[in-house]
Amino acid sequence: MFQRFRQRRTDRETRLRYQETFLARGDFILPLFIAEGTGVNRPIPSMKDISRFSADNAIPYLRPLVAGGLRSVILFGIPDAKGLEQAYSDNGVVQQAIPRLKDAFPALEVIADVCICSYSADGQCYTGDNDRTCELLAKIAGSYARAGADMVAPSDMMDGRVSYIASELKRIGLSGVPIVSYAAKYASNFYGPFRDAADSAPKHSDRKGYQMNPANSAEALDEIRADIGEGASQIIIKPALPYLDILCRARSEFDVPLIGYNVSGEYAMVHALIEKGLASEDIIYETLVSIKRAGASRIISYHTPWALEKIDAYQSL
Ligand SMILES: [Zn+2]
Repeated sequence: MFQRFRQRRTDRETRLRYQETFLARGDFILPLFIAEGTGVNRPIPSMKDISRFSADNAIPYLRPLVAGGLRSVILFGIPDAKGLEQAYSDNGVVQQAIPRLKDAFPALEVIADVCICSYSADGQCYTGDNDRTCELLAKIAGSYARAGADMVAPSDMMDGRVSYIASELKRIGLSGVPIVSYAAKYASNFYGPFRDAADSAPKHSDRKGYQMNPANSAEALDEIRADIGEGASQIIIKPALPYLDILCRARSEFDVPLIGYNVSGEYAMVHALIEKGLASEDIIYETLVSIKRAGASRIISYHTPWALEKIDAYQSL
């Protein structure tokens, strides 16, 4: 006696009847690189179809995506000149972009990534002093919240930053703005194209002194538990594909929404396979559905425009 699993796979209709995980358009969060100035549209050579836009150009870029079901973006600022004070200035590139995007698309959730690596001359996410960096991050997060960000997302991996940011939001009367923390962010080799895009490659050394060791998973649960304790209401796990086990463990351990960040290197890798004729674009669907299956409530991905357009074709008759 044996089970006949193949009965579930006989044809497309049957396979769909047994499908356990479905992607929805609302699952996706689009990363957006916002450049200073106006009229900017600078394609990123290492990332197919991804550009840095000034806020004025981001609006026409987003319009068809929002019409197609885009619900959420996460912003990364690309200042013209380096300087940490730019990061928390009310005239900063992100602070200026947030109200413009909210004006153009009132229902679009605008998340602001909080870090200093695009602003610091050495491309590091910290100043050399953990607690001093947290103070800076809190100031930045506060300025994004004042500008109208729907959520702030610290991505630096300093100890205690969530607690500093929560205090600052309380101090300025904006405790209602949720903190979504990159609680488990690994020192990964999959970030290369992003650093191109955000001009944030570390000029010396690396980020292994603060981002997590890829060999650890129990520690990720500790990090997540700590961030939730400090006031984070959602958690980002980054990267996604090499860390699906972390997503899965976190899903069974915690009840907060979990977001998987399908990073630039994962995006570039998939497109390299497609361009070389070694995979069809079905590989994109497989990638995205695996992140949700592992436990992500939502997915930050450069594939978002593709997903908005194509996922239905994969999930319906
Ligand atoms: Zn950083």
